[in-house]
This record gives sequence, C-alpha cells and structure tokens, in this order.
Amino acid sequence: MSTTLSAPPLGLLLGDIVRRHRPQKKEGTVPGNIPFLATVPFDRFGIAVATTSGEVFSSGDANVPFSIQSISKVFTLAMALQGSRSARLWSRVLREPSGTAFNSLVQLEAEHGIPRNPFINAGALVVTDHLMEETPDAATQLLQFLTKQAGAEEGTASHGPSIDEAAAAGELAGSSRNLALAHFLKDFGNLTQPAESVVENYVRQCSIMMSCVQLAKAGLFLANDGQGTSGRVLSPSEAKRIGSIMLTCGMYDAAGEFAYRVGLPGKSGVGGGILVIVPGQCAICVWSPRLDAKGNSLAGTAALADLSDRTGWSVF
Ligand code: GLU
Repeated sequence: MSTTLSAPPLGLLLGDIVRRHRPQKKEGTVPGNIPFLATVPFDRFGIAVATTSGEVFSSGDANVPFSIQSISKVFTLAMALQGSRSARLWSRVLREPSGTAFNSLVQLEAEHGIPRNPFINAGALVVTDHLMEETPDAATQLLQFLTKQAGAEEGTASHGPSIDEAAAAGELAGSSRNLALAHFLKDFGNLTQPAESVVENYVRQCSIMMSCVQLAKAGLFLANDGQGTSGRVLSPSEAKRIGSIMLTCGMYDAAGEFAYRVGLPGKSGVGGGILVIVPGQCAICVWSPRLDAKGNSLAGTAALADLSDRTGWSVF
C-alpha cells in the first residue's frame, strides 16, 4: 500500500476536511431509542489520526467526548480474544455479514441463537456474556482497557474515557429490543449470565464517552499488528482478523457501500463516530452525530471517503 501524502501535510489536510464536511444544516437522523443522542448539536465534527510512528493529528471537535456506542464492540471483541477461551467464543458467534439490521430478531430466531457476527447487537451481547463469565463488571474492565490504550493519565479521570451512567440509564429504559435479543440467546442456551445483567452491562459499554483523539489512539493496535500505545494487545494474526471483521461487518448493513466509498476496515456507532484503520499506518476516528438511513455518520462517511481519495489510504 502506498501513501500519497502530497501537499498539504496531514494537519492542514484534516483542517480542510473539517471545513468541507462540518454539517451546515440538520440533515440525517439520530436514533429514537437513546434520548441522550438527541441532545448533541448537529454541527459537531471532529477527526483524529494516530499514526504507527507515534504522532497524532487532529482537527475540529476532536477533543470533545461523544458516546462511542457500537464502536465499543471492536474493543470488547479484542478483550475476549486476549483470553485463553477465544475458541469457545467462536463456537457461540459467527463471522459473516448479517445482511439485516444490527438489532434484528428475525435472523437470530431462524439461525437458532447463533449470531452472525460480534458486531451486531446479538453477537455483542454474546461477547459481553463471555467477558462477564470472568469479570462481572465487564463495562468497567472495558473502560480501564480504553483508558490505558488511549494513554489517558492516571489520576486525571475527568479527562479520560468515562461511562455516562445517566445516558446508560436512559437507554436502558428503552432497551426492549436488546432485552428480547438477550432472552432469545438465553432460550437457545447461548447466554450464561442473566439476560438483564448482560443488557445492562452492554448498554453501559455503549455509553462510554471518548473523543476522536482518544479513540484513534485506543484503536491504534488494530493498525499496528496488535501493538498498542502501551504494550502488546493482540497477536498480529488476531489483529488482522478483527480488521477483517470490521471490513465485512463493521458498518451495519452498509459494509459493501462503505468498502466501495472508503476502502478501509471501519466500525461505526450510532453516536456518530467511526473508527477506521489503515493497516501499518494509522487509526482514524471521525465524529459527526447525524446518521444516514443505515445508521452510519453522514458527514463522517463523506469525510473518510474524501480523506481516502486524497491520501491514497486504502486496503485496495
Ligand atoms: N447501544 C446501541 C444499541 O444497542 C448501540 C447501537 C449502535 O451503535 O449500533 O442499540
């Protein structure tokens, strides 16, 4: 893969990306089931790039914390693959694109409680259950993992990643569908912990607040053969595999369209964030809250397509 970083340099290029892509009017939607997300101003836009050589470039609202939502699923999967029980995990969840909505019940019923992949909600609930078998408060374990990978300083918790417990409580109150998925999994024998506990823990993971800069740094191990900002997270093979699942399953039911437009593995969240990796080079996080019909950030996707075209960053 070649990088055609012609002028302007990356810092200036990101500034230009923000000028071009920061929304000027309120297009797109926010999810109806998470009240907190409706309170975020529509014109927020940030972007950050953390490079494998240790540099961080950013522009716009790149230091403003936002709700990471389903981007959390990449990191819980990484944590699950760190343990010695990963073979067991892969007997409980597949690695195929779902071709259905991320919170669909129909497919889970038809496929006897084995979720298609770890990035749809049913699959992420299984990953959370897997983590909770060893660590009941998997959300706090995830928070500690992210804080370490983001390089947030000890003792300055207010500036590091945090769980927005009020946002989590608001989402939990409207989590009938996730509870239904968890009860389906339980009924098929694919959940060991109580369904309510797994959903509560999962919703708290989704309610972690982080900035683009923190997420780009936290995701760097995925672009760097498993080597994180503070030590090895995964083997090169496991890091490659997570990247493959991001490419095929990371963008809800629009993975094909995203691969066409951006050409990079990514994971999206309904908080409007997208984490993307350029293997061997960098991790990128973009955030803009308004979503397209498939649940991906409208301005964020457009910005990544533009950045990929202008840098040559692509796996193709
Ligand atoms: N907490 C959200 C849910 O489970 C996450 C959705 C997402 O970002 O894909 O509905």
